[in-house]
Amino acid sequence: MQLLRWILVLVFVVVVTAGEDYYKILGISRDATEKQIKSAYRQLSKKYHPDKNPGNDDAAKKFVELAEAYEVLYDKTKREIYDKYGEEGLKQQAAGGHGGGHPGNDPYDLFSRFFGGQGHFRGTRRGPNMESKVEVSLSDLYKGNTFEFTVPVQGICDSCGGTGSEDNEKRQCSACGGRGVKTVRRQLGPGMYQTMQMPCDKCSGQGHVFTHLCKACKGAKVMRETRTHQITVEPGTPKGMRVVFENEADESPDWEAGDLYVEVDEKRGENQGFRRREADLFRVEPLSAKEALFGGWKRDIEFLDGSNVTISRKAGESIQHHEKQIVRGKGMPRFRESGKHGDLIIDFIVIMPGSGSRAKHLKDEL
Ligand SMILES: [Zn+2]
Ligand SMILES: [Zn+2]
Repeated sequence: MQLLRWILVLVFVVVVTAGEDYYKILGISRDATEKQIKSAYRQLSKKYHPDKNPGNDDAAKKFVELAEAYEVLYDKTKREIYDKYGEEGLKQQAAGGHGGGHPGNDPYDLFSRFFGGQGHFRGTRRGPNMESKVEVSLSDLYKGNTFEFTVPVQGICDSCGGTGSEDNEKRQCSACGGRGVKTVRRQLGPGMYQTMQMPCDKCSGQGHVFTHLCKACKGAKVMRETRTHQITVEPGTPKGMRVVFENEADESPDWEAGDLYVEVDEKRGENQGFRRREADLFRVEPLSAKEALFGGWKRDIEFLDGSNVTISRKAGESIQHHEKQIVRGKGMPRFRESGKHGDLIIDFIVIMPGSGSRAKHLKDEL
């Protein structure tokens, strides 16, 4: 009986621990870097934010779990304890009073450190949107691929969470005597004065200033940082397509961050001699005068997916200058039309003896 009870307890403990694995919650591996932890939290906390999932209790629960997981894994000391002793170890550490207590514990507060505002999407002022560009080789546009790219942005200061203060200690503003306003006397004309109340510029109308400014941001509340994102380029993605990354523009404690728009562009000079026009591909293929006149040749062209496109003429088959050959289905994949492709159009140019540099020039133009 005693043994059975023990087994039950053990099973229960195992289930609880497995359900709360912080790495699992953030969807990262145990050797994830700080950057990956941060990025995972950014993405998921936005996705599960209660304002975006009204009435969805599961999302709200997940939002809180994400904040808990992040609080631990982003803190080097806590992560170490968690890795060695699990959540129980963290509880003991907190109970022992080491490590300066538990910061915040408010998932909204943590969220606002990432995205500005008061932790909520609703009813806050919005910051400006941003534009960026990702350049992708034609081969990757053909096959589809996932890329990491970085964007320089203004982010909420990690050290002070956007308050600008080292320790939140305040003192009365000496400029306005704590009133938050100052009186300005303006001369309108001879002997005519107007007195106006203006918000104090020393304390921004708060009436108090921080005794110690945050050392990291020097009171600015924000810092320049480089943020890493992932973008998945689907096969046949049209040139100039824009992908939106919600709330990933400049952050500030005064606003909800705007959106980042990323344009997918074709990288110049990395097209393996193919030129794209929507779903069709064009290629200039030089032939010697002998090949053009007498035929009897075969050529393998390395294609964008790594395979070869073979073109050939039998002996006696001649080709005119600028004759075209259409290879059906060897164009770009049609965007989001599974299995459909455009065509490859080959433009043969005949190189007369002595005009080699001209042909080279033509090829370089592509
Ligand atoms: Zn003041
Ligand atoms: Zn700071």
